[in-house]
Amino acid sequence: PPFPIILTGAVQKGFGRGGKDLGCPTANLPDESLPVMSSVTQTGVYYGYARVAADKVGDPSHTLSAEDAVVHPMVMSLGWNPFYKNERLTAEIHIMHEFESDFYGHEMKAIVLGYIRPELDYVSRDALVEDIETDKRVALNSLARLGYEKYRDHELFQT
Ligand code: ADP
Ligand code: MG
Repeated sequence: PPFPIILTGAVQKGFGRGGKDLGCPTANLPDESLPVMSSVTQTGVYYGYARVAADKVGDPSHTLSAEDAVVHPMVMSLGWNPFYKNERLTAEIHIMHEFESDFYGHEMKAIVLGYIRPELDYVSRDALVEDIETDKRVALNSLARLGYEKYRDHELFQT
């Protein structure tokens, strides 16, 4: 697969199916940001880095702290969206960082660096949450390897 893959877009409201309640909030990218993934139609869980912009477009009153707005490791679930009769992919990113607040509407930039596992058969939200701890460990172990750390400083994250 053609890694790294770059995804950007304003964070959208999802269906609120309880990710946050279960300790695994996933920030949804807008559909427009997905065509770039069309070369990678394999659904499942991926890992990489993500950064959320401190400023929210059109809302100067909402700003993230400096610690929140730096580059963090992430795990991403890529799946076919039942709402669109499974004709559209949805990318949801769980950032491995404790944020002080939500960041809906903020620009999120992500670099996808590798594949962790397929979606499980019985799947989706619950499976994602159930396996998230394993996925996080796999992601952190992979990102710690020589050759991945440099992506933290990728030019995508400089602006
Ligand atoms: P939704 O269905 O709207 O996506 P979630 O329960 O999945 O609801 O929560 C996602 C939202 O939680 C994100 O859009 C973001 O604003 C917020 N959030 C807070 N911490 C994180 C985090 N570590 N990773 C991803 N999103 C987070
Ligand atoms: Mg979500």
